[in-house]
Parts: sequence; structure tokens; C-alpha cells
Amino acid sequence: MNIAVIGTGYVGLVGGTCFAEMGNQVTCVDIDVDKVTTLQNGRLTIYEPGLEVFFERGIRENRLTFTTDLADALEPADVVFLALPTPPAEDGSADLQYVLGVADHIGQLLAANPHWGYKVLVDKSTVPVGTAARVTAAVEAHGLASGVHFDVVSNPEFLREGAAVEDFMKPERVVIGTSSPRAAETMHRLYQPFVRSGNPIILMDEASAEMTKYAANALLATKITFMNEIANLCDRVGADVDHVRRGIGTDSRIGPKFLYAGIGFGGSCFPKDVQALHRTAREEGYEFRILKSVLDVNEDQKKTLVPPVLDTLADARGRLDGRRIAVWGLAFKPHTDDVREAPAHVLIREFVSRGAEVVAFDPEAIETTRATFAREPLAGTGTLRYAESAYAAASGADALIVATEWPEFRRPDLGRVRESMRTPLVFDGRNVFEPAQMVEAGFAYRSIGRPTPE
Ligand code: NAD
Repeated sequence: MNIAVIGTGYVGLVGGTCFAEMGNQVTCVDIDVDKVTTLQNGRLTIYEPGLEVFFERGIRENRLTFTTDLADALEPADVVFLALPTPPAEDGSADLQYVLGVADHIGQLLAANPHWGYKVLVDKSTVPVGTAARVTAAVEAHGLASGVHFDVVSNPEFLREGAAVEDFMKPERVVIGTSSPRAAETMHRLYQPFVRSGNPIILMDEASAEMTKYAANALLATKITFMNEIANLCDRVGADVDHVRRGIGTDSRIGPKFLYAGIGFGGSCFPKDVQALHRTAREEGYEFRILKSVLDVNEDQKKTLVPPVLDTLADARGRLDGRRIAVWGLAFKPHTDDVREAPAHVLIREFVSRGAEVVAFDPEAIETTRATFAREPLAGTGTLRYAESAYAAASGADALIVATEWPEFRRPDLGRVRESMRTPLVFDGRNVFEPAQMVEAGFAYRSIGRPTPE
């Protein structure tokens, strides 16, 4: 099939590359000229495990191309994916300007070129209920009747950053929302090779498909947050959240995943999607109370290590002048360079504002962090610099904070870390170490929801 993907970010680039790997002819479009030039030159713009091999093969075999010209991609396409940003607007709702702007442009092009033939337009972005209808209306506004030249389908994406290629190639399910049998048949044909192991393609109406994506993310965010609150309580009563996790995760009604306590969720999806669903509910006159709590608790959770750090390192005014704090991990989760809403950034802002010297290391997310703090500068008298390794970051530090659970942070040479630190103090925001081992290795240690032996 011939496919156009509009928006070449995490979802568009991974999706486009994987469709090309499956033998389709794919053109990816983006308005970011630098991004398109980089991709045309055969260099990736994001880090995602496994992406490079497919990307290079797609380019080499001419199945994967990049352009800034929407018309070029649209003309030959059977299926057009909109993988555009839907960031939170001021009021928390999903900002649809990118999606509707592109829909409007597509409408213009299709109206001017009726000979281009039938297209399936697919909302891949996470969008509120009713967006498929709005996209249809934006295209029809140019004098086209839906079903003649085009149909709009909602096909939410469930990939996880850090495992995006694997998730895209072997999705646990594909959700397709459409009332058009013709579009449903096209989508079925496109996705069939991805579900050969028997995972379902679930067909439903557009509104239900749109709601499915929000329901999934909101439930996952709630599960994490629930566990973080259990951990906060464990801290107070002397229970160990890791034991509790195993104790409840073996119940098949609960399941073992998404039960790990830590310093809160971040990323480009959970925070904005929970906010957007909360907003949708409000617009319908319904107060979705759980979601409000999830957002509030998560904001607090990101700062849960601040009071203990201040208790041990700050002066009477709460200042950290002259203190050096090492931060291991900048990405919002391991195996990605994405730092959007990363808890590590919240901590760094806090420490720098109080005068600390922060030295940070991340295997993939230093450049994205640099770019973020160049756009939204740090405030305060402290400083941030980047180290070349986890050991270099820890060297000379008064405290080490683990903010992302990258595998390489799990089994470092603890003796080397302790020797190099000014004070052997570790705040483990992701529970990557065993408390007893840390005490044995000579650290003062604190984690999330687990007691540290005396
Ligand atoms: P992203 O910000 O990484 O990428 C979006 C891309 O769209 C950018 O490259 C941007 O330059 C481009 N763009 C903006 N306006 C454009 C225009 N008019 N024409 C062409 N390109 C344009 O975003 P993302 O993380 O890929 O997310 C895209 C959507 O998918 C969002 O709705 C998001 O919620 C959803 N989603 C994301 C993930 C994820 O893990 N990142 C997972 C599932 C769903």
C-alpha cells in the first residue's frame, strides 16, 4: 500500500518506518525542515531501540522517504496517517490546531485534485471524542462529501516509548474506529501482517476508539499513582512496597505490571491525556474526581525526595549553596531520550533554584535536556552540568539521586561510587537498589516506600 504519515515525531517516525519494513511505500511529512533534512540524510532524529535497522533498510530499498511537501505525499497515498502533536491547551484540553490545520490543508488539496482518488484519513494522534467528526467536517468544508473521496478513521496508537518498534510491529491489539466498511477493509488489510500471531483487530465506532485511548492511559496513570500512594503509606507504617507489589501483582485481576512505586510518571502522554480526559468530562458537566487526584498526587510525587534531601543537605534557610548533587537519569523513563515532563527535570529545577551544583548523567537524554533548558531556562543561583558517565556524575557529590531506572544504573561498582562521593548518600527515586545491600556497601540510603535497615 502507499502510505503518507503526517508528523514525523515519535509516533510518525516509528509508525512510518515499521509500515515500510512491512513492504509498504511510505512518505513521511513534517513541517520541521531541519528534521526532514536530517532524516533525508539517513540520520535518525530520535532514539528508539531497534529503529535504526528498519530505518536504514527502508531508505536503502526506497520504501521510506521524507518530505516537507504535503501534496507530494498525499497524491499517491491510499492511507494518510495524522501523527501530529495534541499538546495541552491552557485549560488542559487537547489542542487540536495541528490536527485540524492539516485536515483543512488536506481538504484543499483533495478538492483541487479530485482525480487523486479515494483516501483513508487516519487520526493516529491521541484526540478527544468527536475529533474524527471534526476532521471530516474540516475536509468536507472544501466541498468534498465524505465517502466519495475519503473516510476518516480513528486508530489510536498504544506504543510505549523505549519499546516503540517492538510494540508497533507486534501490537497487543489494533483499535480501528470507523463507520465505513470500505475504510475498515483497507485498515484491516494494512494491519493484518502486524497481528499474524493472533492478536485482535478490534473494530468499533470512531467515538469509542477515541475514548479507548484516553481510558487506557488514564487507567495506567491511575495504577501507577495508586501504587505511589501505597508506597507513601508504606514509608509511614514501616511496610515494604516491593513485598506489597508482589503480594498483589500475583492476583490475575490486578496483574504484575505498572505496580512499581517511584517519583511519579512523566512523558508526553500520561500527564496531558489524563488532563484532557478530565477536561472532556468537565465540558460534559461530569467531575471525573479520580483523575483530578491522579494529577495532584503525581505532581507531589515528583517532589517526594525534596524534603529528605533538604533535611540532610540544606542550611537553615533551605539553601543548598556549596552542595553538589548528582542526578542519574534525565529521561522520563529508560530506553528513550524523551524528557517531556520528566520528574528528573522537576528535581533539577528545585535544586538549582536553591543554589546547588547539579551534575547529571543520562545514557541518551543529555542533548534533549540541554535543548529543554535552553528553551525554558533554569532559575536560581545554582548550576547544572553534564557528566560523561554515571561514575563521573557521582564523583565529589554530597548526594546521588536516581531519577530514571536505566539498566546500567542497577549494578554499578558500589565501592567505586562510595569512594568517589564526598558523602555516601543515595536517594533512590526508582527503587533500583536493594536497601540492605546499600547499607552494607556503606551508604546512607533512602528509597520509595521501602524501609532501610538500621
Ligand atoms: P512529536 O511531537 O514527537 O511529533 C509530532 C511531529 O509533528 C513533530 O515532528 C512536528 O514537527 C510535526 N508537525 C507539527 N505540525 C505539523 C504540520 N502541520 N505538518 C507536518 N508535521 C507537523 O509527537 P508524538 O510523541 O509523535 O505524538 C504524536 C501524537 O501521538 C500525539 O497526539 C500523542 O499524544 C500521540 N501518541 C504519542 C505516543 C508517544 O509515546 N509519544 C504514544 C501514543 C500516542
